[in-house]
Amino acid sequence: MKLPTVDDYNFKGQKAIVRVDFNVPLDEHMELQDDTRIRAAVPTIKKILKDGGSAILMSHLGRPKDREDRFSLRHIRARVEKLLGTPVLMAPDCIGPEVEALSAGLKAGEVLLLENLRYHKEEKAGDPEFAKQLASLAEVYVNDAFGTAHRAHASTAVIAQFFEPSRRMFGYLMAKEVEMASRVLHHSEKPSTAILGGAKVSDKIPIIHNLLDRSDHIIIGGGMAFTFIRAQGGEVGNSLLEEDRLEEARQILKKAAEMGVSIHLPEDTLAADAFSADANTKVLPSGQIPQGWMGLDIGPKAVAAFGSVILASKTLLWNGPMGVFEMEKFAGGTLEIAKFIAEATGRGAFSLVGGGDSVSALTQMGLADRVSYVSTGGGALLEFLEGKELPGIEAILKDRS
Ligand code: AMP
Repeated sequence: MKLPTVDDYNFKGQKAIVRVDFNVPLDEHMELQDDTRIRAAVPTIKKILKDGGSAILMSHLGRPKDREDRFSLRHIRARVEKLLGTPVLMAPDCIGPEVEALSAGLKAGEVLLLENLRYHKEEKAGDPEFAKQLASLAEVYVNDAFGTAHRAHASTAVIAQFFEPSRRMFGYLMAKEVEMASRVLHHSEKPSTAILGGAKVSDKIPIIHNLLDRSDHIIIGGGMAFTFIRAQGGEVGNSLLEEDRLEEARQILKKAAEMGVSIHLPEDTLAADAFSADANTKVLPSGQIPQGWMGLDIGPKAVAAFGSVILASKTLLWNGPMGVFEMEKFAGGTLEIAKFIAEATGRGAFSLVGGGDSVSALTQMGLADRVSYVSTGGGALLEFLEGKELPGIEAILKDRS
């Protein structure tokens, strides 16, 4: 199904309320640290303005307990203006008579930025009355905040019911995210390989289950690999281990074998005698790590083996680092895997990288522009990959023929 987007609508003379993700990092002087998320919303807003519509922007910022000023969206207004190249009116709140008056006075081409949605507890509670008040400000609802699509909050999902299907749609960013993740899950060219890493097996188990139906290869690195290695009877010393997940790991290995999905675990490991940047290190077989030693990165044989699977793949999904990449000594495996993914992409594979740490690893290594798509999604992407229905997506698509 083609997703309904802002391209399918003419906003001339219309007010659109747009859920954006302006949850950006601010320092102690309220200076913006990274405006990637604001930049990502610009094309959608510009389309509305270019048509001759006006845009009412709404977002959350941080986790305010009450109306704490440090979470005010007025701190980012100037940057939004700069990136849009047009003045932005700042509302004192996101609902109420003053905001209604401001929105009523909006003219074609004008932009109004609402104050932090989470100044009202009704936002996270998904309160329908609050959502209705937000909805009353505009004639059209646009959701461009993929990062919160897994939440059934007032502005991300509940609000949609107050607009008829033709007047609710996705922004460009959200549509692109859904399209890219769907390509991996539902329209992947074979062989399709998922590369999973990071610390916790428990976080990734639902994804592995869903990917078993859709991937040819699953590469598992990072701390989470040791639970699988232990499940196969290996000695993992002081490496990360989730004892209560051993049985589940066994089940996954068994199911994969039955389904003909190859699970690749690291044959060797860069082990350290302390969780520290100046620890002593040695390369050991991953299943023969003695007490007093812990695996903090994948070893050279694992890098080579994972690399050849990656280079032979046509679809790649990467989530989670191969080791403790924050310490240079243990960043090598993650860097090499990132390079292989970039190389495979250069040879024509489709690659999607997403979910927090793998994105920072890729950016840190300057390889972000050498993969097909870097997701901004985090938790939302992970839930999508688990096969869950995301409330933010469902709310737009509901009752649409
Ligand atoms: P996650 O949030 O589950 O994706 O995990 C990311 C974190 O996993 C990063 O902070 C890495 O430092 C950490 N990590 C990756 N490999 C290992 C390992 N072998 N031992 C301990 N932590 C690891």
